[in-house]
Order: sequence, then C-alpha cells, then structure tokens
Amino acid sequence: MNHSQSKALFSRAQETIPGGVNSPVRAFRGVGGEPVFFKEGAGAWLTDVDNNRYVDLVGSWGPLILGHAWPPVVAAITEAARLGSSFGAPTEAEVRFAELICATVPSVEKVRLVSSGTEATVAAIRLARGFTGRDYILKFEGCFHGAGDPFLVKAGSGVETLGLPDSPGVPAAVAGLTLTAPYNDLGAVEKLFAERGKDIACAIIEPVVGNMGVLIPEEGYLQGLQALCRAHGVLFVLDEVMTGFRLARGGAQEVYGLRPDLSTFGKVIGGGLPLAAYGGRRDVMSKVAPEGPVYQSGTLSGNPVAVAAGLASLQALRSPGVYERLDSIGRELEAGLRAEAEEARVPVTINRVGSMFTVFFTEGPVFDYASAKKSDTARYGRFFHQMLEEGVYLPPSQFESAFLSLSINEPEVAHILRAARRAFRALGTAA
Ligand SMILES: *Cc1c(COP(=O)(O)O)cnc(C)c1O
Repeated sequence: MNHSQSKALFSRAQETIPGGVNSPVRAFRGVGGEPVFFKEGAGAWLTDVDNNRYVDLVGSWGPLILGHAWPPVVAAITEAARLGSSFGAPTEAEVRFAELICATVPSVEKVRLVSSGTEATVAAIRLARGFTGRDYILKFEGCFHGAGDPFLVKAGSGVETLGLPDSPGVPAAVAGLTLTAPYNDLGAVEKLFAERGKDIACAIIEPVVGNMGVLIPEEGYLQGLQALCRAHGVLFVLDEVMTGFRLARGGAQEVYGLRPDLSTFGKVIGGGLPLAAYGGRRDVMSKVAPEGPVYQSGTLSGNPVAVAAGLASLQALRSPGVYERLDSIGRELEAGLRAEAEEARVPVTINRVGSMFTVFFTEGPVFDYASAKKSDTARYGRFFHQMLEEGVYLPPSQFESAFLSLSINEPEVAHILRAARRAFRALGTAA
C-alpha cells in the first residue's frame, strides 16, 4: 500500500497540531509508524487519502454502530442543519431525546445532555459529590472515563494507595481524592469501604471495560459492587459511554441486571456527532442546576444537529434483532480469529462481549489491568500493521476495543479473516 499522502499530511500536521493529532491514540504511538488520514467512510468501509480501502473495526472508537454515513442519519443531520445549527435555547427534539433515553434505560429518570463523554463523567462526579457531601471517589484500575482531572490517576498497586496524578497539570490534591481498586476484585472494595466508605461519594466503573482492551466482568461482580455501594451510601455510577446502546438497547445495565444511581452515555447516542448525557435517580438529578445547586452548563448542549443524528441512530437501533445480529457476527468473527491464530500457533486471548472485542497477544486469561499488561504489545503492533496492509483498520493500540457495526456483513467478515490468516502467519514465522 502507498501511504504517501498520509505521510505528507502527518508531517504538515505536526507543525500546527500537538503530535499532529487532536486526540493522542490517533497518532499510532501504541503500534509504531504513522497514522493514516481518511477522507471518506461508507458503511463498513473507509477510504484514506491515498485511496486505500479498509474494513473499519474502530467505528470512530465506538459511536458508529450503524457504520459510516448511514443514510437516515445523514438525512437527519442535513435537515437539522438546514433549520439552524444551534439556538442556545430549548428545542422539541431534546425533549423527545430525553424521553427516549428515560424510556429505554429504566434507571434513568432524568437526564442532562452534554457534548462529550468527558463532560458527562466530570458532571456525574460533581453531582455525586454535591449530593452526598463526600469528597472521595473510587475508580478501577485500567478503566477510562475521559480526560477529566479526577480520572487521570495512575492505577495504584493497592486499594490503600492514594491516586497519583497520571499527567502533569493534575494537582496532587485533586488526584489524591481518587481512590483505586483492581477491576473484578470485590474483596478489595469490601476492605476499602469498611475503612473509608463514609468518605466516598461514588464508585464509577466501566461495566464491560473497553479501555484496557475488552475486560469482561466476572459472574456477580457488578451486582456485588452495586450491593456494596448501597450498603455504604456510595453512589453507584455506571459509565456507559462505550456500552450504552451498544451491548443492548438498555446498555450493560440491561445485560447484567443493574440499577445504577447515575449513568453516563456518549458515543453511540450521538450517531457520530458530539453528544453525550448523564442521568439517573430523580432525587439525585434534581440537584442539577437550575433545579438544584450543583452547577453544570454548556453552550452547545443538546445541539439540534447532534440530537437529530442521535435520534435517527437510536431509531435505527429499535429494529428487531439488531443486537442479536451484532452478537452473531461477533461470535463468527471471534471463532474465525481464534482458529486462524491457533493454526499459525500464535497464542492469543480473545475477549468479546457482543460487538466489542480485543485480541490480546498473551495466553491469558485477561481479566484486569495487571493481566492485560502481560500482552505482547510489540506483537500487537506487528499484527496491526499487517492487517492495515491487508485492508483492515484495527484500533492502533492493544488496549482499545475493536467495534463491529451493523454494516459488517459476510463479505467483510470473510475479508477480515483472510487478512488475519496472513497476519497471524507472518507473526508465526517471525517468532
Ligand atoms: C470514550 C469514553 C469516555 C470519554 O468520552 P469522550 O467523548 O471521548 O470525552 C468516557 N468513558 C468511557 C467509558 C469511554 O469509553
């Protein structure tokens, strides 16, 4: 494949954009080499600026569950833009959107729209603190909740360890209010809550982790966490920015039978436009300004074009059998990838829930931050580049979920598996 236009753009971009990208993982540092610049997406396929084509397994990092440029979404965006792209005042579509979310996710009794997942999680934490009058929060090692200060905390080695800032610019005093515990370890939370429970406003978690590669909750783990939260007056915040409307219409909370106090949404709900939300218990959400004292606002919140894209996407996801289809394509792809890896004698662990999956280059099992870190990331990098050359766009990092869309059908699955056969074989002989 020729990547000369991408290369030229990347060197130009580095002059005016930090690292040449507007979000760090895009820069390919996790896999080496230089990023591909895209000019078009249609259904399951991407075209780059050098006219190479790829089956897309990133889907803009989760939002594009329908695929690229799904015609009803494009039509909704066009129509909304024609009527005026922003009013900074209420619209009917926002009300319909809020009603749709509340009707689909029973734990959400009231919801506030924002423009990014980061905004949603930052607002949810502020609300949890304002509601409980407690300052500490608990997050889980390897879980990502966006780029807000309270979340940029290095996963500590134990639950007693106070968080250390993961980034210059996050004051130690802020990071120190974030406690961490390993994912899939209820005992650690039990111990932490026994000692510090009354200081903790909320526990926030990715129900199925997507941001350490895919990690699957062990049987009873999330339900146990919810029960521990209840027992200690700690709000249970489910970060469904990735899983909401992706794993099921009602998100991971529907799949695992949960009733969180607060939930955050993003990605899929915006249909590829900047739209996110936080919502939950009526008494908690009633503390949000102007109904209550906890301040949060946004000039473009509930933006009409974004809401139109969101409504059209969620509408499409109401067709019967949609999630079953995503799961069956996922199952087929998982089995195929496993068979190809085995054939090439490349040890992998494939974690998948519905349309989210990760191929870890380790014998596994992979169930938390420490076990995910055992993966051979250099090997993933070689696999990634081989797949890219074969026309498959995987996430440019071992520690990110791949996503399926409803535009991926049998021909695309065959294309991916053909590419994977060659890529695994190349690794096998290289080893
Ligand atoms: C992507 C993501 C976020 C951040 O959303 P942005 O829109 O990128 O700010 C937060 N939480 C989870 C679980 C995510 O996957």
